[in-house]
Amino acid sequence: MELYSGHINKLIEELAGLPGIGSKSAQRLAFHLINMPKARVERLAHAILDAKENVRYCEECYTLTDREMCPVCSNGNRDHSMIMVVENSRDLAAYEKTGKYTGVYHVLHGAISPMLGIGPNDIKLKELMHRLEGDVSEVIIATNSSLEGETTAMYISKLIKPTGIKVTRIASGVPVGGDLEYIDEVTLLRALEGRIEL
Ligand code: ZN
Repeated sequence: MELYSGHINKLIEELAGLPGIGSKSAQRLAFHLINMPKARVERLAHAILDAKENVRYCEECYTLTDREMCPVCSNGNRDHSMIMVVENSRDLAAYEKTGKYTGVYHVLHGAISPMLGIGPNDIKLKELMHRLEGDVSEVIIATNSSLEGETTAMYISKLIKPTGIKVTRIASGVPVGGDLEYIDEVTLLRALEGRIEL
């Protein structure tokens, strides 16, 4: 039995497929959208399509960007021999907000998780190893302090060690299980300054 209309059901179904949106939230959002003025719905729809069509991976660090190379990678004043490895573009933004980190980044787009079936080949790890063939003096692993983040940090350090490149891990101070993006700038900087060699 169709409780609502087929169109609304389809909208609810699409929304419910988004991360962090349960079926109740999907219903609420769907009805909210239906009640919005048409011009606003159009703006939202266009913003989604525009972002999808114009956002791509930076060819150097794989963060999301509008250009071939992101503002950090294309900045000649940044130290390109220092690479901070983060799980996603939001973590990169968190460190950029501190304004104190002068190196560049590498965005993995995920973390290794045997439980979720995410292996080393499912994140941008090959791409990181490829970058290390260039002139790199230090790799700072700034994955989250969750189980997945720690697993990923360990895996990467083992991979890099034989190359002789210095590998460090940001210090604790970032609470266990904490997502980098929610941590304040002072704590992020302290974690960076107190990083330890692996
Ligand atoms: Zn970049």
